[in-house]
Amino acid sequence: MNLEKLVRPNILAMKAYSSARDEFEVNNEVVLLDANENPFASDWNRYPDPYQRKLKKAIAELKDINVENIFLGNGSDEAIDLIFRIFCEPGKDNIIVTDPTYGMYEVSAAIQNIEVKKVPLTKAFELESDKVLSAVNENTKLIFLCNPNNPTANLLDEKQIKYVVDNFEGIVILDEAYIDFTDMESSIQWLNDYPNLIVLQTFSKAWGMAGMRLGMAFSNLGIIQFFNKVKAPYNLSILTQNKALELIKNNKEKVKSNLQVLVQERAKLIEALNKFSMVEHIYPTSTNFILVRFTNHSRVFKTLVEAGLIVRDRSKALNCGNCLRITVGTPNENELLIDVLSKI
Ligand SMILES: *Cc1c(COP(=O)(O)O)cnc(C)c1O
Repeated sequence: MNLEKLVRPNILAMKAYSSARDEFEVNNEVVLLDANENPFASDWNRYPDPYQRKLKKAIAELKDINVENIFLGNGSDEAIDLIFRIFCEPGKDNIIVTDPTYGMYEVSAAIQNIEVKKVPLTKAFELESDKVLSAVNENTKLIFLCNPNNPTANLLDEKQIKYVVDNFEGIVILDEAYIDFTDMESSIQWLNDYPNLIVLQTFSKAWGMAGMRLGMAFSNLGIIQFFNKVKAPYNLSILTQNKALELIKNNKEKVKSNLQVLVQERAKLIEALNKFSMVEHIYPTSTNFILVRFTNHSRVFKTLVEAGLIVRDRSKALNCGNCLRITVGTPNENELLIDVLSKI
């Protein structure tokens, strides 16, 4: 892989914004008269650390990875957007996504005027690496793979993923938003072997911090440096950095036990759903949601809404006819769901 050839020429050539804080870690021994801040002390009168060094150190320990291989963003959505801005020339380049998959890849592509090539998964939502690779042309910069996949909930085959990463000269983004709900090891471990790989994870799902907006991208130093070059200088607020640090330190056990509850609840929900004749198929899940094909999904959807239960209608996605995507809730919420369904 030739990173400089993949990056857009203007991004390669541009000079990044620099502030005095790029060079100095703020501590109590220096007087800061460099950034036109208000000097009266509060918890937020200063600009935050642009590189989130303390938070990255905690995440590096958590994920067993080096700090230099981490980018932190305002949700994974920021990382996805930056990947487009680093690599994709508007009106010229294209990307490949599987169909169906997470909608943000296509939205970010549309914002940048980037063509999206959709390669169907099989009817059982399996990845076919040869089909993905045969869609590549000389302007294909990115391939997005979501593992486990949203909205289908299944894990993709590791060999098929590796075949894509091995045989594509552009960048492969492996979105692991739901990896904590599986028994699989993260592909973060593959980073040493694959210079063209970016792994995305998030604090929004298993960690229960969707409202905080904190996403992670893991990659090799060269790619991380481009993230840092194009990101907004102070992309994560002091509030986010401090709170996330606190939660990582103090909440690990709570997160783990909640995760166990969700996995148990998922199994209970599947068992209960299986008993309904209106349930045609429950797709295998390695996530905190279940894709269910009903005999008449719109009737089920309507009944649930009337009872104040909101699920996601995914019936228009490829090979998802009559499917609803149901997020696993608390034990009480799941009981309510089954209760409402049993009255249909
Ligand atoms: C929920 C989700 C995310 C998380 O996005 P954030 O911006 O980090 O909240 C990323 N990818 C997929 C596939 C998701 O379903």
